[in-house]
Amino acid sequence: MPKSKKHQSLLRNSFNFPTFSGLPDEPENEIDLRYYDNGPFGFKPGQHWCFLGEIVESIGLVRVLLRVKDKDGQVVTVGLYTDDRGQALAPQIKEGHTVAVLYGEQHGFLDMSVGIRVEDTSNIKIIPCSLEQLLKASDDVATLRKGQPRRCGSCGKEENASDNTHLRLCSRCRHTPYCGEDCQKKAWAAGHKANCKALVGVRWFTERNWRTFHDWFNF
Ligand SMILES: [Zn+2]
Ligand SMILES: [Zn+2]
Repeated sequence: MPKSKKHQSLLRNSFNFPTFSGLPDEPENEIDLRYYDNGPFGFKPGQHWCFLGEIVESIGLVRVLLRVKDKDGQVVTVGLYTDDRGQALAPQIKEGHTVAVLYGEQHGFLDMSVGIRVEDTSNIKIIPCSLEQLLKASDDVATLRKGQPRRCGSCGKEENASDNTHLRLCSRCRHTPYCGEDCQKKAWAAGHKANCKALVGVRWFTERNWRTFHDWFNF
């Protein structure tokens, strides 16, 4: 394993955020011991995992069926086999946005395509940004260093008590600092609007401990 792996940001880590080919097989075949530990009460996950894919197209008629592209570029099917067949999710479906599926497993559909069968609505959510933007936001959160002087996200001015430069965080993402309203407005129009959505989307993931399993996560 290359050394740089240690410094990867959360969503780029391929164990907790695997591509389709890294997902466990459905357990009727064989329990995947990379993902499950055998304990006194049977098998339980050793860590949490979540599949991420960008919506390429929506192909379902009677239920929500999405074709999504994972971090490797492989396109697979995500099918909603929930009670409502995905109707609650339908209004959020948009090409180019990202689907996150908790605890997904490799499934072979009857039409011979492969993908993930989602049976619980609380295991899937759509994040309103591209997969690339989401991964970039994960990097941005990871490289935020404490103890270093913060800089305005627009003009680059450093925070400095002696000349009264105070920075305030964007109230939506609570990530990017600005020296004032003008800089914030300028940055919003120049592209923070899109990054901000990705930063808000990534927060749900970075606020959780993916390495230790106590109970299932839900969206
Ligand atoms: Zn500024
Ligand atoms: Zn923001």
